[in-house]
Amino acid sequence: MNSRYWSPVVHRLIPYVPGEQPKLSKLVKLNTNENPYGPSPRVLEAIQSELSSVLRLYPDPNAERLKQAIADYYGITPAQVFVGNGSDEVLAHAFHGLLQHPAPLLFPDITYSFYPVYCGLYGIDFATVPLAEDFTLRVADYLRPNGGIIFANPNAPTGCLLPLADLEWLLDRNEDSVVAVDEAYIDFGGETAITLVDRYPNLLVTQTLSKSRSLAGLRVGLAVGHPDLIEALERIKNSFNSYPLDRLAIAGAVAAFEDREYFERTRQAVIVSRAELVAALEELGFEVLPSAANFVFARHPRRDAAALAAALRERHVIVRHFRLPRIDQFLRITVGNPEQNAVLLAALGQILAGD
Ligand code: PMP
Repeated sequence: MNSRYWSPVVHRLIPYVPGEQPKLSKLVKLNTNENPYGPSPRVLEAIQSELSSVLRLYPDPNAERLKQAIADYYGITPAQVFVGNGSDEVLAHAFHGLLQHPAPLLFPDITYSFYPVYCGLYGIDFATVPLAEDFTLRVADYLRPNGGIIFANPNAPTGCLLPLADLEWLLDRNEDSVVAVDEAYIDFGGETAITLVDRYPNLLVTQTLSKSRSLAGLRVGLAVGHPDLIEALERIKNSFNSYPLDRLAIAGAVAAFEDREYFERTRQAVIVSRAELVAALEELGFEVLPSAANFVFARHPRRDAAALAAALRERHVIVRHFRLPRIDQFLRITVGNPEQNAVLLAALGQILAGD
């Protein structure tokens, strides 16, 4: 490759590698934590009704309808809400606008692998803090000089949940920098920290519509925090792209927050399937970390994880395997619908029977 025309920064970047989006149909795709149920029919109707010559016009740069819908849902004000093109973009703006300081940004050694990538992009100094042996996060380990703290709750790819009381303990002792909590998976088993934003001016909570609201293809994410934090994100956004959410995304996302009944029903279905999947995996001899997310993180004491992932793939089931220290013997498996989970379990049963 000829890189002679690249800006210097590009040579240093180590980009994030997203989970595969295979072109083949007929795969059981349990590798990127998508929701097995489609979005609410009301979301699809709202998007349809936006499909007109109105697309000639730019969307609302502030997506005010969506901020209002989110504010109504959480009982907060629109000034406490930021929205962006997927929570990846919201996180990028948070790294850029709130977490870039002389002292290092802290995050767990095992977490969402995009965090070090943003640090590379924006030149942010960071230090990783090891999770405990059982992959839980010990908030006391974060009591040291820092330019910010970020972690996912539930964590990814482990699925482990940090109790809200532990977050409060940390917030009470870390007043001088932002604590960002990435709640991409919170609706599958945790309590949101959005209830704490009125009390802690340095707390930023991000969420996505990609998982519990089944809209990974629409690209909508959000952040909630004190209006002063939100203002920093708005300044970055308005220096980057004034219209990150298109008309279809705004219409669909508003409907997703309005249809509470569909949201509750589908997220409960995933939670029930997760319990069934964990029980069946344990029956097959897997050790499964306690998950509050729409995926499970599991290892088999006698089978190599990379080999298992490859054998599953031969049977048209795709799961995620990370070649990273401490977790290279784990598989991250998205909770599918009962049919998908049954295919996965049958394939694993066959593979393990070949011992
Ligand atoms: N945070 C975590 C922990 C994730 O796993 C993901 C999904 N890859 C995201 C954020 C980003 O999701 P999205 O950009 O689809 O909102």
